Amino acid sequence: MIKFLDLKKINNRFRADIDARIAAVLDRGWYLQGQENDVFCKNFATYCGTKYALGVANGLEALTLIIRAHGFCSGDEIIVPANTYIATILSITENGCTPVLVEPDICTYNIDPARIEAAITPRTKAIMVVHLYGQAMQMEHVWELAAKYRLKVFEDCAQAHGAAYQGRRAGNLSDAAGFSFYPGKNLGAMGDAGAITTNDAVLYEKLKALANYGSDYKYHNLYRGVNSRLDELQAAVLDVKLCHLEQDNESRREIARYYRNHITNPLITLPEVYDEAAHVWHVFPVRTEERNRFQTFLSQHGVETLIHYPTPPHKQPAFNEWNDKDYPITEEIHRTIISLPISPVMTQQEIEQLVEIVNAYQ
Ligand SMILES: *Cc1c(COP(=O)(O)O)cnc(C)c1O
Repeated sequence: MIKFLDLKKINNRFRADIDARIAAVLDRGWYLQGQENDVFCKNFATYCGTKYALGVANGLEALTLIIRAHGFCSGDEIIVPANTYIATILSITENGCTPVLVEPDICTYNIDPARIEAAITPRTKAIMVVHLYGQAMQMEHVWELAAKYRLKVFEDCAQAHGAAYQGRRAGNLSDAAGFSFYPGKNLGAMGDAGAITTNDAVLYEKLKALANYGSDYKYHNLYRGVNSRLDELQAAVLDVKLCHLEQDNESRREIARYYRNHITNPLITLPEVYDEAAHVWHVFPVRTEERNRFQTFLSQHGVETLIHYPTPPHKQPAFNEWNDKDYPITEEIHRTIISLPISPVMTQQEIEQLVEIVNAYQ
């Protein structure tokens, strides 16, 4: 059986270090906003190349807080790829803002830079890019448009820890970026966790307060904030795993390279890569016409797969006002896409076996 993602195996590689760090938290008896949080945030900011990183409760809240800190509200529009995971869109609606969905590029699965300008109106405040599946967005055109129309740029980095564009890491390509450390992400906690990165000192201070009841110093509340904090146990676990993120991402790249060189089945469309450094392969998405049949075939041969994602946000009951809208490229992707196992703990034998099985599908 080739598992999609063996989280137990992934985390148990670092068992001794994780045990020691968890024990240290217990010994200290300090569970929130302590030294584990400080150390991890400092290390994560260094990793991303940003001045600041703020630990928060999860990825959705990281994105929601970024928008909130800018004061965007009802009537303000934020441009977002139509094929993203629903959380990106919820961070916008949670603030009362209007998500403006833009079709992706069918080759990179990221927002199509050529379609963004037509979606800009006098109410547009920001462009939220999503480095989907682990491939950094080609930012050049986004930056140009942001400068031309005076828009903010935000990144949803939930699938892109360590991805890079022109030598700069995801999280350091915009005004502010949200990360998720959901257990299955490239850098995953043992529960919910997230972070915001930015180079803007004023924004950082505001976000820090907003995430802690709006409090800028103890028992003084500058804003009507929320409770969204990264706890000491998760920070400790993440700090251990951060040391291995580069190696893990490199393992993912090697597997992806092997798949791209060896999967030759004409029924399977492989993902396109414009730059090796850009991609950290959160998933390995392929497309095929008869997806259900392909998934059943793989399952019968002991290969676990997942679909990211079966239904696009505009077809969800939660957004029934969009259900009649057409986003043909997004719909085509959601109809045909399926993710093959790719994880740093796969063995060479599993990798080769998977390729053989995929190539045998007809
Ligand atoms: C996982 C994910 C999120 C949400 O992160 P949580 O930590 O689960 O809240 C947001 N956007 C994308 C693209 C994701 O994959």
